[in-house]
Amino acid sequence: MFLDIDGTLLDLAPTPDGVVIPEGLPQVLDSLARALGGAFALVSGRSLDSIDSLFPGPWDAVGCHGAEWRLGGQRFTPPPPWPDGLVAGIEAARRRLPGVMMERKSQSLALHFRAAPEQKAAVRTLAAAAVATDAHGLDLLEGKSVMEIIPAGNSKGLAIERFMRLPPYAGRRPVFAGDDVTDESGFITVNAMGGLSIHVGDSPTTQALFRFPDPRAMRHWLNGLDTAIGGHQDHEHP
Ligand SMILES: [Mg+2]
Repeated sequence: MFLDIDGTLLDLAPTPDGVVIPEGLPQVLDSLARALGGAFALVSGRSLDSIDSLFPGPWDAVGCHGAEWRLGGQRFTPPPPWPDGLVAGIEAARRRLPGVMMERKSQSLALHFRAAPEQKAAVRTLAAAAVATDAHGLDLLEGKSVMEIIPAGNSKGLAIERFMRLPPYAGRRPVFAGDDVTDESGFITVNAMGGLSIHVGDSPTTQALFRFPDPRAMRHWLNGLDTAIGGHQDHEHP
């Protein structure tokens, strides 16, 4: 089971730090992870550190859209992929765009414009220029109210493929739930493996086979699944 976080498990907030973790959700996820024999990973655009600050479970995780991950307790985080000059240049340009926030993650630079949607085109131009002038192999990822610069060759789909080659995932049927454009690669991957793809939201163009209207419905389904596969009972009767 692979789950995106923001907009899938958690309701979106004005800033990444503003999300609220509903009571009981970490326990349900922990219970599911155990019921699935550990084949459970959070798959996010957030950094691993940010994921751990929200959900300090020892679960597997994929951060920065696949550019870093933890599997079976082993962490893989490559060095940041860009020279400081690039970051400084983007930050200087960002200061001329009121309401736009730059978030520097271990493996990506995110320009958030949820507070200033009118800046979308300017942010895209800025991010595209940075990617185009850099020789280090960077990609531009567009998400909900965010443009992200990440090391080229990463996606949630490739990250799920990587995990599916290894225990305890190998040979099993993958499930992936996500809400954003950046989750579509994950849907395509699990569809190709005969798995279950779930879009949270109302995208008319999603490749996902199933849909929930919002994170609340997603959480409701996870609660029911946890009860059905027995993890929850373990939790109540240790
Ligand atoms: Mg999301």
